[in-house]
Amino acid sequence: MVGHRVGDALLTRVAKRLQRLVRATDLVARYGGDEFIIVAERSDGAQLIPMLDRLIVAMREPFHVSGQELYVEASIGISTYPQDGRDADTLIRNADAAMYLAKSRGRNGYQFYRPELNRAAAQKLQLSTKLKRAVKAQALAVAYQPQIDMQTGQVVGAEALLRWHDPELGAVSPAAFIPIAEETGLIQGIGEWVLRTACRQARAWRDAGLPPIRVSVNVSPLQLERSDLVKVVRSALDEADWPAEMLELEVTEGALMRNADDAARVLHDLRGLGVKIAIDDFGTGYSSLSYLQRFSIDRIKIDRAFVQQIGRDDGYEALTLAVIAIANALKFDVIAEGVEFDSHRHFLVEHGCVEGQGFLYSPAVSGEDIADILRATGSQARQVIASE
Ligand code: C2E
Ligand code: CA
Ligand code: CA
Repeated sequence: MVGHRVGDALLTRVAKRLQRLVRATDLVARYGGDEFIIVAERSDGAQLIPMLDRLIVAMREPFHVSGQELYVEASIGISTYPQDGRDADTLIRNADAAMYLAKSRGRNGYQFYRPELNRAAAQKLQLSTKLKRAVKAQALAVAYQPQIDMQTGQVVGAEALLRWHDPELGAVSPAAFIPIAEETGLIQGIGEWVLRTACRQARAWRDAGLPPIRVSVNVSPLQLERSDLVKVVRSALDEADWPAEMLELEVTEGALMRNADDAARVLHDLRGLGVKIAIDDFGTGYSSLSYLQRFSIDRIKIDRAFVQQIGRDDGYEALTLAVIAIANALKFDVIAEGVEFDSHRHFLVEHGCVEGQGFLYSPAVSGEDIADILRATGSQARQVIASE
């Protein structure tokens, strides 16, 4: 680790070294952290190759700052005048787009601007601006997908799923905006809000006299990395006066593997509160089975990708059976997602996976709709009891 002051001195050196390599008319700018952009005047892009070569060699050389020998990993984006733009704003924006690509490809990267880059970057920028506004305007909503005991048809839980309706874009899928929320840091606030909203909603169902159901909330890897997740969860439960045992958090394998030691500790503390933990999208990430033993887990979710191959692909069917067997062997509960057809339900129940969620039963719906569903199935349950 390098101290702040040394770090700043170092980055100034880096900028100076870059400056020496380019022409006097070229612009080198530090864009923040280890991000640099270069705007170069070249009529022919090929003319830039020798400069790029010199640049790569130069950056491999160590920097000497305060008696320390330091190596730098910089992300550099390059745009050229006049091909990539005719005014400073455009040129800088394009170099910036190239820099983001360099950065996303791992550190120590150099990328030239390409026209198609801007579209992707612009779309992302637009989405993140709109998302920020939506958060401020409280324009996000939470929908709930019922989780069913597929043997009795009883609703046993509900998974909270974010919904965002933008006036211009229409419904934006969480699959598209969650990654942006993660990149921009918005996920912390959004995630906390979902947690509080879901607990309050669960409490409201119960207050309305409906049969109590478990509520599941998706937790982003970034939330898991923040040490205050346990505090946030506890306060959401307290605030809603909702029992911890009736809250389940869904985490992905990826989230656990990213920072396994910290994740293990956080899961342990969460379970200490009484909260249940489910592994989402099980079997789709890269992970070793041994971690299942290591982490405190209550349930495995069979991924949609497996369920959807039931009746179609023997290999996937075998994998589905293997996941159920793993759950049984380790005494975890198991639930299937993406149950769309009765053939899915039949196969799953027959092989010991009794809980499921999916379009066969219901998509994610509003809290009021869940109340209606609970009223219907609740009365059905009472009927069964009355006739016994
Ligand atoms: P996920 O956790 O795997 O959620 C299940 C997704 O499958 C949901 O998509 C749901 O609407 C969809 N789905 C449910 N049943 C079926 C079915 O029978 N067939 C098919 N084809 N799809 C079905 P959705 O709501 O678009 O969410 C996508 C992903 O976004 C979620 O995947 C989750 O990873 C993420 N997400 C959603 N809400 C949150 C949130 O509050 N926090 C975080 N961190 N992530 C969230
Ligand atoms: Ca989930
Ligand atoms: Ca899933």
